[in-house]
Amino acid sequence: MSIALNIHSILSEIPASVTLVAVSKTYGADKIEEAYEFGQRVFGENKVQELCDKQLVLPQDIQWHLIGHLQTNKVKYIAPFVSLIHSVDSLKLLQEINKRAAQQNRSIHCLLQMHIASEETKFGLSEQEAIELLESDTFSAMKNVTIAGLMGMATNTSNEAVIRAEFAGLKHFFNTLKASYFSTSDSFSTLSMGMSSDYKIAIEEGSTMIRVGSSIFGHRNYL
Ligand SMILES: *Cc1c(COP(=O)(O)O)cnc(C)c1O
Repeated sequence: MSIALNIHSILSEIPASVTLVAVSKTYGADKIEEAYEFGQRVFGENKVQELCDKQLVLPQDIQWHLIGHLQTNKVKYIAPFVSLIHSVDSLKLLQEINKRAAQQNRSIHCLLQMHIASEETKFGLSEQEAIELLESDTFSAMKNVTIAGLMGMATNTSNEAVIRAEFAGLKHFFNTLKASYFSTSDSFSTLSMGMSSDYKIAIEEGSTMIRVGSSIFGHRNYL
């Protein structure tokens, strides 16, 4: 199947209100161009270096999302252009994003990455940590970041009930935060959940943004 056909088939089965992030990590600029020519404009990468290399050579109207773990010392490289950071998992990281965004005279949209899977290894905040972050004076003083919503990755399992329950829990927490902290702002509106294997379940549970890689570009060969 071609990349264009894959995107077409995904778009035809998801609601128009759900944003498709094409996860292009490990794929070359030629593959991204194929998707771009078909009309795809939102791409996700998980490594800063790879993201910057691609941003330099690809069309400037691409909206680049950083979906992978972000180290504080690398924020400066993406601050000029990144359109959404899905992986904010500490106040310290958010402070650095705010500082670098201010230097660029812009506001950077961010999602808080929540730990919803049973695996220990996946990054993310607990509900308590997210609440502490949002209630901190440090966060209140930030003028150059916008918390646009939440992101989460479900457990890597074939048990659909487990995945569904994790997504439902994240949606519930999203609603709680929206009511408590963002009831007067429209900006808290994105719930990034669902990848190739589970995006259909994620959408049924309230996802507004799916991050799909292998179902578009094919299986990745990690080095
Ligand atoms: C790689 C990746 C994806 C996409 O995974 P696929 O299974 O290829 O669709 C989504 N989200 C994150 C955070 C990723 O690192």
